[in-house]
Amino acid sequence: MSLDAGNITREVSSPVIVGNVSAELPVYQPWQNWEPSRISHHGRACCEIAREWIVHTDFAALNGANPLSGPRWLRHKFEWGPGVYPVYWCEVPKKEKVDCGVLAALAHEVFMNRGVRCFRTQLVQEFTPSASAQWYAAWAQENAVTDWIGDTLIYHEGCAIVTRDSNLKLWDSSAGWWMDPKSTSGYGSLAAVRVSAPAGSELYWGEHVIPAGIWTTLCENGTGVGSASTTPGGRAAELPTRSPAD
Ligand SMILES: [Zn+2]
Repeated sequence: MSLDAGNITREVSSPVIVGNVSAELPVYQPWQNWEPSRISHHGRACCEIAREWIVHTDFAALNGANPLSGPRWLRHKFEWGPGVYPVYWCEVPKKEKVDCGVLAALAHEVFMNRGVRCFRTQLVQEFTPSASAQWYAAWAQENAVTDWIGDTLIYHEGCAIVTRDSNLKLWDSSAGWWMDPKSTSGYGSLAAVRVSAPAGSELYWGEHVIPAGIWTTLCENGTGVGSASTTPGGRAAELPTRSPAD
């Protein structure tokens, strides 16, 4: 308990030792106390009907395919863009744009209803100041929270599924693809991750060991993982260049 309190009040000027490697603040430091975004429920039929509609639409879209398939239809239905909270289930089907937190919550809901073991996942990704500036303008214009946007690092949410044993796949519900565990450097790469699985277990994503429920740094200097993004076709570059406006 006292350890948590110490982290919260630690002065920014005082470097934190991460593992035995970095003497700088961890990349997830601005977001280390954030919880995964929630879709609120009125506790009435309005929200339950909407939630069931999402689940039934997913069953129809899946059409008997492998339940571990990514629910790409969600990304086709909803454009990624600014969102304000609270957001209720009964509001979701009418929306054209939702943010990464709502898309991750929807993906988690459909995987759960398919009987897939899955966990909400928080991410820190590396982009560029120009991408950040573009997002900041779009989010500020709609009075949405902008604290997820750093200069070159951003907070993001996705959904982890367990494929076998304790091996994970990370679904980027905003992009509509599986994240590449080898992409830990460069534009769009993953710098840190926290998988909201029950504490005490160890999970595996590619060659990364990810302790459940704990922010884990994936940058090269944090884990010693090899260099160079091998994201196929540079697909990660699509996300930041997508215009959230209009
Ligand atoms: Zn409702």
